[in-house]
Amino acid sequence: MKIIIQKFGGTSVSSTEKRKLVVSKIKKAIEEGYNPVVVVSAMGRDGDSYATDTLLSLLDVNFRTDNKLAADLIACCGEIISATVICSELYKVGLNSTPLTGGQAGIITNNEFSNAEVIETKPDAILKVLNEGKVPVITGFQGETREKYFTTLGRGGSDTSASIVGVALNAEKIEIYTDVDGIMTADPRIVDNASLISQINYNDVFQFADQGAKVIHPTAVKIAMLSGIPLIIKNTMNDSEGTIISKNIPSSGNKIITGITHVKDRVQIKINYNDNKDNSYYDSVLELLALNNISIDLINVFPDSNVFTIDKNNLEKLSNLLNQFSIKYNFIDNCCKIALIGSEMRGIPGVMARITKTLKINNVDILQTADSHTTIWCLVKECDVKKAIKSLHNEFQMSKK
Ligand code: ADP
Ligand code: MG
Repeated sequence: MKIIIQKFGGTSVSSTEKRKLVVSKIKKAIEEGYNPVVVVSAMGRDGDSYATDTLLSLLDVNFRTDNKLAADLIACCGEIISATVICSELYKVGLNSTPLTGGQAGIITNNEFSNAEVIETKPDAILKVLNEGKVPVITGFQGETREKYFTTLGRGGSDTSASIVGVALNAEKIEIYTDVDGIMTADPRIVDNASLISQINYNDVFQFADQGAKVIHPTAVKIAMLSGIPLIIKNTMNDSEGTIISKNIPSSGNKIITGITHVKDRVQIKINYNDNKDNSYYDSVLELLALNNISIDLINVFPDSNVFTIDKNNLEKLSNLLNQFSIKYNFIDNCCKIALIGSEMRGIPGVMARITKTLKINNVDILQTADSHTTIWCLVKECDVKKAIKSLHNEFQMSKK
Protein backbone atom coordinates (compact mmCIF):
# COMPACT_ATOMS: atom_id res chain seq x y z
CA MET A 1 0.00 0.00 0.00
CA LYS A 2 1.36 3.42 -1.01
CA ILE A 3 0.40 5.60 1.93
CA ILE A 4 0.48 9.39 1.96
CA ILE A 5 -0.44 11.53 4.96
CA GLN A 6 -2.32 14.74 4.12
CA LYS A 7 -2.71 17.16 7.04
CA PHE A 8 -4.95 20.21 6.64
CA GLY A 9 -4.57 23.14 9.05
CA GLY A 10 -7.26 25.34 10.57
CA THR A 11 -7.60 27.87 7.76
CA SER A 12 -7.65 25.10 5.13
CA VAL A 13 -10.86 23.66 6.58
CA SER A 14 -12.45 26.96 7.62
CA SER A 15 -15.05 27.46 4.84
CA THR A 16 -17.13 25.41 2.42
CA GLU A 17 -15.03 26.73 -0.46
CA LYS A 18 -11.75 25.76 1.15
CA ARG A 19 -13.09 22.34 2.19
CA LYS A 20 -13.85 21.72 -1.50
CA LEU A 21 -10.16 22.37 -2.22
CA VAL A 22 -9.24 19.93 0.56
CA VAL A 23 -11.40 17.28 -1.10
CA SER A 24 -9.71 17.95 -4.46
CA LYS A 25 -6.25 17.40 -2.90
CA ILE A 26 -7.41 14.09 -1.41
CA LYS A 27 -8.97 13.04 -4.73
CA LYS A 28 -5.80 13.91 -6.61
CA ALA A 29 -3.71 11.74 -4.26
CA ILE A 30 -6.05 8.81 -4.91
CA GLU A 31 -5.82 9.38 -8.68
CA GLU A 32 -2.03 9.28 -8.35
CA GLY A 33 -2.31 5.81 -6.80
CA TYR A 34 -1.89 6.77 -3.13
CA ASN A 35 -3.93 5.66 -0.15
CA PRO A 36 -4.40 8.98 1.65
CA VAL A 37 -4.65 9.16 5.42
CA VAL A 38 -6.07 12.57 6.30
CA VAL A 39 -5.36 14.53 9.50
CA VAL A 40 -7.35 17.69 10.21
CA SER A 41 -7.20 20.65 12.59
CA ALA A 42 -10.20 22.49 14.04
CA MET A 43 -11.89 24.94 11.68
CA GLY A 44 -10.53 28.48 11.57
CA ARG A 45 -8.78 30.62 14.14
CA ASP A 46 -9.72 32.24 17.46
CA GLY A 47 -13.19 33.76 17.22
CA ASP A 48 -14.46 31.30 14.59
CA SER A 49 -17.33 29.20 15.95
CA TYR A 50 -15.57 25.84 16.26
CA ALA A 51 -11.96 26.97 16.64
CA THR A 52 -10.09 25.56 19.66
CA ASP A 53 -9.67 28.94 21.40
CA THR A 54 -13.37 29.72 20.96
CA LEU A 55 -14.34 26.39 22.52
CA LEU A 56 -11.91 26.87 25.41
CA SER A 57 -13.31 30.35 26.03
CA LEU A 58 -16.65 28.74 26.94
CA LEU A 59 -15.01 27.60 30.17
CA ASP A 60 -14.16 29.70 33.20
CA VAL A 61 -10.43 30.56 33.08
CA ASN A 62 -9.71 29.25 36.58
CA PHE A 63 -11.78 26.11 36.02
CA ARG A 64 -9.74 25.50 32.89
CA THR A 65 -6.45 25.84 34.76
CA ASP A 66 -7.56 23.61 37.62
CA ASN A 67 -9.29 21.04 35.41
CA LYS A 68 -6.93 20.33 32.55
CA LEU A 69 -8.69 17.03 31.83
CA ALA A 70 -11.97 18.88 31.18
CA ALA A 71 -10.22 21.60 29.17
CA ASP A 72 -8.66 18.95 26.93
CA LEU A 73 -12.04 17.33 26.38
CA ILE A 74 -13.59 20.55 25.07
CA ALA A 75 -10.40 21.39 23.14
CA CYS A 76 -10.76 18.09 21.27
CA CYS A 77 -14.27 18.96 20.01
CA GLY A 78 -13.05 21.27 17.22
CA GLU A 79 -11.14 18.51 15.44
CA ILE A 80 -14.00 16.06 15.92
CA ILE A 81 -16.36 18.48 14.15
CA SER A 82 -13.83 19.18 11.43
CA ALA A 83 -13.04 15.50 10.70
CA THR A 84 -16.73 14.60 10.49
CA VAL A 85 -17.51 17.53 8.18
CA ILE A 86 -14.62 16.55 5.86
CA CYS A 87 -16.03 12.99 5.73
CA SER A 88 -19.38 14.46 4.72
CA GLU A 89 -17.65 16.50 1.96
CA LEU A 90 -15.86 13.37 0.72
CA TYR A 91 -19.20 11.52 0.66
CA LYS A 92 -20.62 14.20 -1.65
CA VAL A 93 -17.99 13.33 -4.29
CA GLY A 94 -18.47 9.59 -3.89
CA LEU A 95 -15.54 8.86 -1.57
CA ASN A 96 -16.12 6.66 1.46
CA SER A 97 -14.33 7.65 4.62
CA THR A 98 -14.33 7.09 8.39
CA PRO A 99 -13.63 9.79 10.98
CA LEU A 100 -11.36 8.65 13.83
CA THR A 101 -10.52 10.42 17.08
CA GLY A 102 -6.86 10.42 18.13
CA GLY A 103 -7.59 7.57 20.54
CA GLN A 104 -9.48 5.55 17.93
CA ALA A 105 -6.55 6.08 15.57
CA GLY A 106 -4.34 4.45 18.23
CA ILE A 107 -2.45 7.52 19.47
CA ILE A 108 -1.72 6.77 23.12
CA THR A 109 -0.27 9.54 25.32
CA ASN A 110 0.88 10.15 28.88
CA ASN A 111 -1.33 12.07 31.34
CA GLU A 112 0.17 15.53 30.71
CA PHE A 113 -3.14 17.16 29.79
CA SER A 114 -2.82 20.14 27.40
CA ASN A 115 0.71 19.15 26.39
CA ALA A 116 0.66 15.35 26.26
CA GLU A 117 3.45 13.26 24.85
CA VAL A 118 2.76 10.30 22.59
CA ILE A 119 4.04 7.11 24.18
CA GLU A 120 2.71 4.55 21.72
CA THR A 121 0.92 4.38 18.38
CA LYS A 122 -1.24 1.40 17.39
CA PRO A 123 -2.42 2.04 13.85
CA ASP A 124 -4.66 -1.09 13.56
CA ALA A 125 -7.91 0.90 13.24
CA ILE A 126 -6.42 3.16 10.54
CA LEU A 127 -5.22 0.10 8.61
CA LYS A 128 -8.66 -1.49 8.94
CA VAL A 129 -10.28 1.58 7.39
CA LEU A 130 -7.69 1.59 4.59
CA ASN A 131 -8.25 -2.11 3.93
CA GLU A 132 -11.98 -1.43 3.60
CA GLY A 133 -11.03 0.93 0.75
CA LYS A 134 -12.01 4.02 2.74
CA VAL A 135 -10.20 7.22 3.63
CA PRO A 136 -9.36 7.52 7.35
CA VAL A 137 -9.90 11.12 8.52
CA ILE A 138 -8.12 11.56 11.84
CA THR A 139 -8.62 14.37 14.34
CA GLY A 140 -5.28 16.14 14.72
CA PHE A 141 -3.87 17.58 17.96
CA GLN A 142 -5.20 14.78 20.13
CA GLY A 143 -4.55 11.42 21.70
CA GLU A 144 -5.90 9.34 24.53
CA THR A 145 -4.41 8.16 27.82
CA ARG A 146 -4.31 4.45 28.64
CA GLU A 147 -7.35 5.17 30.87
CA LYS A 148 -9.14 6.52 27.77
CA TYR A 149 -9.17 10.22 28.65
CA PHE A 150 -8.83 12.62 25.73
CA THR A 151 -5.56 14.56 25.70
CA THR A 152 -4.15 17.30 23.47
CA LEU A 153 -0.60 17.53 22.15
CA GLY A 154 0.03 21.27 22.58
CA ARG A 155 -0.43 24.14 20.12
CA GLY A 156 0.38 23.18 16.54
CA GLY A 157 -0.03 19.54 17.65
CA SER A 158 -1.89 18.49 14.48
CA ASP A 159 1.45 18.60 12.66
CA THR A 160 2.77 16.19 15.29
CA SER A 161 -0.26 13.91 14.75
CA ALA A 162 0.54 13.82 11.03
CA SER A 163 4.16 12.81 11.63
CA ILE A 164 3.24 10.23 14.29
CA VAL A 165 0.71 8.56 12.01
CA GLY A 166 3.11 8.83 9.04
CA VAL A 167 5.83 6.99 10.93
CA ALA A 168 3.44 4.35 12.32
CA LEU A 169 2.17 3.58 8.79
CA ASN A 170 5.58 3.95 7.13
CA ALA A 171 4.09 6.54 4.78
CA GLU A 172 5.91 7.51 1.60
CA LYS A 173 5.52 11.20 2.44
CA ILE A 174 3.70 13.60 4.75
CA GLU A 175 2.00 16.61 3.18
CA ILE A 176 1.22 19.57 5.46
CA TYR A 177 -1.36 21.85 3.82
CA THR A 178 -1.63 25.41 5.12
CA ASP A 179 -2.40 29.01 4.06
CA VAL A 180 1.06 29.91 2.65
CA ASP A 181 3.03 28.46 -0.27
CA GLY A 182 5.53 26.69 1.98
CA ILE A 183 8.40 27.70 4.21
CA MET A 184 9.42 31.23 3.34
CA THR A 185 12.57 33.19 4.15
CA ALA A 186 10.48 35.09 6.74
CA ASP A 187 6.87 35.13 7.92
CA PRO A 188 5.02 36.54 4.86
CA ARG A 189 2.76 38.43 7.26
CA ILE A 190 5.81 40.50 8.23
CA VAL A 191 7.86 40.56 5.02
CA ASP A 192 5.59 40.75 1.95
CA ASN A 193 8.36 39.89 -0.51
CA ALA A 194 9.67 36.88 1.43
CA SER A 195 10.68 34.11 -0.97
CA LEU A 196 9.75 30.46 -0.95
CA ILE A 197 12.38 27.97 0.16
CA SER A 198 11.80 25.08 -2.24
CA GLN A 199 14.02 22.54 -0.47
CA ILE A 200 15.43 22.49 3.03
CA ASN A 201 16.98 19.86 5.27
CA TYR A 202 15.40 18.64 8.51
CA ASN A 203 17.98 20.38 10.70
CA ASP A 204 17.49 23.83 9.23
CA VAL A 205 13.71 23.56 9.32
CA PHE A 206 13.85 22.29 12.89
CA GLN A 207 15.73 25.48 13.83
CA PHE A 208 13.10 27.52 12.00
CA ALA A 209 10.24 25.79 13.79
CA ASP A 210 11.94 25.80 17.16
CA GLN A 211 12.71 29.52 16.86
CA GLY A 212 9.13 30.58 16.26
CA ALA A 213 8.14 29.96 12.61
CA LYS A 214 4.61 28.73 13.15
CA VAL A 215 4.34 27.03 9.78
CA ILE A 216 5.43 23.62 11.12
CA HIS A 217 5.76 22.27 14.65
CA PRO A 218 9.32 21.33 15.72
CA THR A 219 8.20 17.98 17.17
CA ALA A 220 6.63 17.04 13.82
CA VAL A 221 9.98 17.75 12.12
CA LYS A 222 11.90 15.69 14.67
CA ILE A 223 9.61 12.68 14.36
CA ALA A 224 9.67 12.69 10.55
CA MET A 225 13.45 13.18 10.57
CA LEU A 226 14.08 10.15 12.77
CA SER A 227 12.31 7.94 10.23
CA GLY A 228 13.57 9.84 7.18
CA ILE A 229 10.05 10.45 5.84
CA PRO A 230 9.92 13.57 3.63
CA LEU A 231 7.66 16.38 4.81
CA ILE A 232 6.15 18.65 2.18
CA ILE A 233 4.57 21.98 3.12
CA LYS A 234 1.98 23.14 0.59
CA ASN A 235 -0.72 25.73 0.09
CA THR A 236 -4.28 24.34 0.08
CA MET A 237 -5.36 27.30 -2.01
CA ASN A 238 -3.11 26.67 -5.04
CA ASP A 239 -1.00 24.07 -6.84
CA SER A 240 2.45 25.43 -6.01
CA GLU A 241 5.17 22.84 -5.43
CA GLY A 242 5.68 23.91 -1.83
CA THR A 243 8.71 23.19 0.34
CA ILE A 244 10.26 19.73 0.44
CA ILE A 245 11.93 18.87 3.73
CA SER A 246 14.22 15.86 3.71
CA LYS A 247 17.79 14.84 4.43
CA ASN A 248 20.79 15.29 2.12
CA ILE A 249 19.54 18.62 0.90
CA PRO A 250 22.41 21.05 0.66
CA SER A 251 21.42 23.96 2.86
CA SER A 252 20.81 27.36 1.46
CA GLY A 253 23.05 27.11 -1.65
CA ASN A 254 25.23 30.18 -1.69
CA LYS A 255 23.06 32.09 0.76
CA ILE A 256 24.56 32.75 4.16
CA ILE A 257 21.20 33.08 5.86
CA THR A 258 18.38 30.67 5.00
CA GLY A 259 15.70 32.61 6.83
CA ILE A 260 14.68 34.81 9.72
CA THR A 261 12.17 34.07 12.42
CA HIS A 262 11.29 35.33 15.87
CA VAL A 263 9.86 34.42 19.27
CA LYS A 264 7.85 37.08 21.04
CA ASP A 265 6.86 37.55 24.68
CA ARG A 266 10.43 37.40 26.00
CA VAL A 267 11.52 39.34 29.08
CA GLN A 268 15.15 40.28 29.61
CA ILE A 269 16.36 39.90 33.19
CA LYS A 270 19.53 41.50 34.51
CA ILE A 271 20.94 40.66 37.94
CA ASN A 272 23.86 42.89 38.93
CA TYR A 273 26.56 41.85 41.38
CA ASN A 274 26.75 45.36 42.83
CA ASP A 275 23.07 45.26 43.81
CA ASN A 276 23.53 41.89 45.51
CA LYS A 277 27.03 42.10 47.03
CA ASP A 278 26.01 40.88 50.46
CA ASN A 279 23.60 38.23 49.28
CA SER A 280 25.03 34.70 49.51
CA TYR A 281 22.38 33.42 47.09
CA TYR A 282 23.71 35.58 44.22
CA ASP A 283 26.19 32.93 43.02
CA SER A 284 23.55 30.21 42.83
CA VAL A 285 20.80 32.24 41.14
CA LEU A 286 20.85 30.23 37.89
CA GLU A 287 20.63 27.02 39.89
CA LEU A 288 17.67 28.39 41.84
CA LEU A 289 15.85 29.12 38.57
CA ALA A 290 16.58 25.63 37.25
CA LEU A 291 15.34 23.98 40.46
CA ASN A 292 12.12 25.96 40.10
CA ASN A 293 11.63 24.98 36.48
CA ILE A 294 12.05 28.47 35.06
CA SER A 295 13.53 28.01 31.64
CA ILE A 296 16.00 30.70 30.56
CA ASP A 297 17.90 31.45 27.37
CA LEU A 298 20.31 33.95 25.78
CA ILE A 299 22.35 33.49 28.94
CA ASN A 300 25.36 35.81 29.39
CA VAL A 301 27.36 35.45 32.57
CA PHE A 302 29.68 38.43 33.21
CA PRO A 303 31.92 39.12 36.21
CA ASP A 304 29.54 41.88 37.30
CA SER A 305 26.15 40.56 36.17
CA ASN A 306 23.97 37.72 34.86
CA VAL A 307 21.75 38.52 31.88
CA PHE A 308 19.20 36.16 30.37
CA THR A 309 15.65 36.01 29.01
CA ILE A 310 12.51 34.19 30.11
CA ASP A 311 9.01 33.74 28.71
CA LYS A 312 6.66 36.47 29.96
CA ASN A 313 4.42 33.80 31.53
CA ASN A 314 7.24 33.03 33.96
CA LEU A 315 7.83 36.62 35.09
CA GLU A 316 5.56 36.42 38.13
CA LYS A 317 7.07 33.12 39.23
CA LEU A 318 10.59 34.51 38.78
CA SER A 319 9.86 37.68 40.68
CA ASN A 320 8.30 35.73 43.60
CA LEU A 321 11.32 33.48 43.73
CA LEU A 322 13.94 36.26 43.58
CA ASN A 323 12.04 38.31 46.17
CA GLN A 324 11.93 35.29 48.45
CA PHE A 325 15.75 35.18 48.40
CA SER A 326 16.06 39.01 48.43
CA ILE A 327 17.88 38.97 45.08
CA LYS A 328 17.58 42.33 43.33
CA TYR A 329 17.05 42.39 39.58
CA ASN A 330 16.01 44.63 36.66
CA PHE A 331 13.89 43.60 33.72
CA ILE A 332 12.80 44.79 30.27
CA ASP A 333 9.52 43.24 29.13
CA ASN A 334 7.92 43.10 25.66
CA CYS A 335 11.04 41.82 23.96
CA CYS A 336 11.38 39.62 20.87
CA LYS A 337 14.14 37.18 20.09
CA ILE A 338 15.01 37.32 16.40
CA ALA A 339 16.84 34.30 14.95
CA LEU A 340 18.80 34.34 11.69
CA ILE A 341 19.19 30.73 10.60
CA GLY A 342 21.52 29.06 8.12
CA SER A 343 24.08 26.27 8.30
CA GLU A 344 26.12 28.10 5.62
CA MET A 345 27.08 30.90 8.05
CA ARG A 346 29.50 28.51 9.78
CA GLY A 347 32.98 30.01 9.57
CA ILE A 348 31.98 33.06 7.51
CA PRO A 349 33.39 36.18 9.13
CA GLY A 350 31.50 39.43 9.48
CA VAL A 351 27.91 38.15 9.66
CA MET A 352 27.32 39.57 13.14
CA ALA A 353 28.93 42.85 12.04
CA ARG A 354 26.47 43.14 9.14
CA ILE A 355 23.56 42.44 11.47
CA THR A 356 24.53 45.01 14.07
CA LYS A 357 25.29 47.63 11.42
CA THR A 358 21.95 47.09 9.67
CA LEU A 359 20.01 47.35 12.92
CA LYS A 360 21.91 50.45 13.96
CA ILE A 361 21.21 52.19 10.63
CA ASN A 362 17.53 51.37 11.13
CA ASN A 363 17.51 52.71 14.71
CA VAL A 364 16.82 49.34 16.29
CA ASP A 365 18.39 48.89 19.73
CA ILE A 366 20.01 45.49 20.24
CA LEU A 367 19.45 44.40 23.83
CA GLN A 368 21.48 41.20 23.60
CA THR A 369 23.00 38.78 21.06
CA ALA A 370 24.08 35.16 20.97
CA ASP A 371 25.26 32.79 18.29
CA SER A 372 25.80 29.13 17.45
CA HIS A 373 27.22 27.53 14.29
CA THR A 374 23.86 27.76 12.55
CA THR A 375 21.95 30.60 14.22
CA ILE A 376 22.48 34.19 15.34
CA TRP A 377 20.02 35.64 17.84
CA CYS A 378 19.29 39.29 18.57
CA LEU A 379 17.00 40.47 21.31
CA VAL A 380 15.06 43.61 20.37
CA LYS A 381 12.02 45.45 21.71
CA GLU A 382 8.72 44.18 20.36
CA CYS A 383 7.92 47.58 18.82
CA ASP A 384 11.06 47.24 16.64
CA VAL A 385 10.63 43.63 15.54
CA LYS A 386 8.99 44.19 12.15
CA LYS A 387 11.46 46.92 11.18
CA ALA A 388 14.37 44.72 12.31
CA ILE A 389 13.23 41.63 10.39
CA LYS A 390 12.46 43.58 7.21
CA SER A 391 15.82 45.34 7.20
CA LEU A 392 17.80 42.15 7.90
CA HIS A 393 15.84 40.30 5.20
CA ASN A 394 16.84 43.05 2.82
CA GLU A 395 20.49 43.17 3.93
CA PHE A 396 20.94 39.42 3.31
CA GLN A 397 19.14 39.62 -0.05
CA MET A 398 16.49 37.07 0.73
CA SER A 399 13.64 38.71 -1.18
CA LYS A 400 11.86 37.31 -4.24
CA LYS A 401 13.79 37.99 -7.41
P1 ADP B 1 -2.16 25.96 10.06
O1 ADP B 1 -3.43 26.42 10.69
O2 ADP B 1 -2.34 25.59 8.62
O3 ADP B 1 -1.43 24.93 10.84
P2 ADP B 1 -0.34 27.99 11.04
O4 ADP B 1 -0.96 29.30 11.36
O5 ADP B 1 0.00 27.08 12.16
O6 ADP B 1 -1.26 27.26 9.95
O7 ADP B 1 1.00 28.23 10.18
C1 ADP B 1 0.96 28.98 9.01
C2 ADP B 1 1.40 30.41 9.29
O8 ADP B 1 2.78 30.38 9.69
C3 ADP B 1 1.38 31.31 8.11
O9 ADP B 1 0.11 31.90 7.93
C4 ADP B 1 2.48 32.33 8.39
O10 ADP B 1 1.98 33.57 8.81
C5 ADP B 1 3.25 31.70 9.56
N1 ADP B 1 4.71 31.69 9.35
C6 ADP B 1 5.62 32.13 10.25
N2 ADP B 1 6.86 32.03 9.77
C7 ADP B 1 6.75 31.52 8.52
C8 ADP B 1 7.70 31.18 7.51
N3 ADP B 1 9.02 31.35 7.68
N4 ADP B 1 7.24 30.67 6.36
C9 ADP B 1 5.91 30.48 6.17
N5 ADP B 1 4.96 30.79 7.09
C10 ADP B 1 5.37 31.30 8.25
MG1 MG C 1 -0.07 25.00 12.48
